[in-house]
Amino acid sequence: RKAAGSSLLDGLDPDQRAAAGSDGGPLLIVAGPGTGKTRTLTHRLAHLVSERDVPPRQCLAITFTRRAAEEMAERLTALVPDHAPELIIATFHSLGVRILREQHERVGLSADFGIADSARQLAVLAEVTGDEPGARRALAELSRSRRTGTPDELAERYTKALRQQDLVDFDDLVALPVALLEADAELVAAYRERYRWIAVDEYQDVDEQQYRLLRLLAPPDGNLTAIGDPDQAIYRFRGADVGFFLRFRQDFAGARTVQLTRNYRSNPHILDAALRAIEPGTLVPGRELHPMGEHGNARVGVHHAADERAEGAFVARTIDQLLGGASFHSLDSGRVVTEGTQGLGFSDFAVLYRTDRQARAVMDALTQAGLPFQKRSHDRLAERPGVEEILAELAYAGGTVLDRVRRAADVVLGRGAEEAEIHTAVDLLKPLARECGDDLARFRTELSLGIEVDTWDPRADRVSLLTLHAAKGLEFPVVFVVGCEDGLLPLRWPGAEPDAEELAEERRLLFVGITRAQQHLYLSHAASRAGRPASVSRFLADVGDGVERVGEAPKARRRETQLRLL
Ligand code: ATP
Ligand code: MG
Repeated sequence: RKAAGSSLLDGLDPDQRAAAGSDGGPLLIVAGPGTGKTRTLTHRLAHLVSERDVPPRQCLAITFTRRAAEEMAERLTALVPDHAPELIIATFHSLGVRILREQHERVGLSADFGIADSARQLAVLAEVTGDEPGARRALAELSRSRRTGTPDELAERYTKALRQQDLVDFDDLVALPVALLEADAELVAAYRERYRWIAVDEYQDVDEQQYRLLRLLAPPDGNLTAIGDPDQAIYRFRGADVGFFLRFRQDFAGARTVQLTRNYRSNPHILDAALRAIEPGTLVPGRELHPMGEHGNARVGVHHAADERAEGAFVARTIDQLLGGASFHSLDSGRVVTEGTQGLGFSDFAVLYRTDRQARAVMDALTQAGLPFQKRSHDRLAERPGVEEILAELAYAGGTVLDRVRRAADVVLGRGAEEAEIHTAVDLLKPLARECGDDLARFRTELSLGIEVDTWDPRADRVSLLTLHAAKGLEFPVVFVVGCEDGLLPLRWPGAEPDAEELAEERRLLFVGITRAQQHLYLSHAASRAGRPASVSRFLADVGDGVERVGEAPKARRRETQLRLL
């Protein structure tokens, strides 16, 4: 058994090392963005298995998205290649599937039960209500009644029909294991014996069922490490409750708390802007966050555009100029700063927006400027065009999953399906199919679990377009947050003003967006959007000092003159 300071903790600062190398028992790591929370969690697991002789099978790391789980698995493979394959790295949903596959008999399911996607849920609801057009509304009612914990008659009939078809839905994936464990102390003991070390990233976004599952799996004095930042809680609309984070120390008495205060991600101006943006609504008053001085010193740019087309053009133009090696707004203010901007590639840029429909204008502008981009889509893979048809044919073939997919595609194409669509579907299915070898059941499970199976490839040499929600946990050298307008950020649903809680969450979304940036941050807003007048976000007033206006028409003319003079 090696002491702290051994190799796996070497890449960490003293606070991170104290956290990653700490002994058992409940541990809460509460820290702001870019302080290395995820990195600390990864190193903690690596340290436990390779320097503390903890069997990897006893370690359970939980993240929120499949993508985050994949990334953690990759990092651990690099750190502890021999142990990584045995570590359990799961999302809450995949953990639920694991438990349900083991305990299927107790909930009246077969070993290879299916997972209903929303289309299937709607079909089941249409069946039990006999009202097909009303199914969507029924589904919304169902989620609401489940969230508030008041199962009604509809819910009961729906569940019964689902089970008769050997199906569970997404909510069931966590709720069923919770119900099972809550009714069986022996089972709880068995799982606690198995998962001795549990670590959860982004703990500020757990919802009630996930929280209950964790409390069942981890005893009050258990080795549970919870990591998060209350100011980045952005999933309240989905039932997440930051209150679970805030009461960790009551739930797990004697929990140690570690704070991380060094920010390794963002330049000092960006960090200042982030702190000013969150300050009026912070859930962590008096938080310290110190920039470690990397990533240059470019100031935060605020751009005022005439409309969304002009905003898109600003984004494209600025990317173009940064790729050229000089900072656009630094030229504006008479300084030429190339520091930290050299060697940028397309993949170093991200454009973040509150709502998906804002992407259109940006995509048009990037297309026109000849800049390659990829948009992170939230579609479930299983629901993308062509995929369903291919899946329907899989049963009739044998061999590896990939072979089956290809053959199924041929069958579908033979029926005269849309050529291009099916090829795209096969391309999208290929990585997962490869990963699953000849385990067709796993392929189907993963597909139906595929909320986060998206088409976004972090390694592709393209500009990334993402919603603020989808950007959580990520970082980019250059970030644009577009549409900083009242009505968009904070978002206003038609006919309703956001209430105080909603406003607070919108503010946290801006905080998440700002803190994705390493070297350059641009906040933009338009005077008119979709033909209607728009006003600048109330949050920008809080960001206030320290930013500079960039890329505006009169200045742009002046810059041309300057350049000509040069
Ligand atoms: P978020 O709240 O956005 O999830 P985080 O706290 O999880 O952020 P990480 O993503 O783990 O932060 O780390 C942010 C960046 O800082 C990463 O690029 C990481 O490699 C780097 N970093 C973290 N700790 C150190 C360190 N001790 N030395 C150098 N770089 C570090
Ligand atoms: Mg993180």
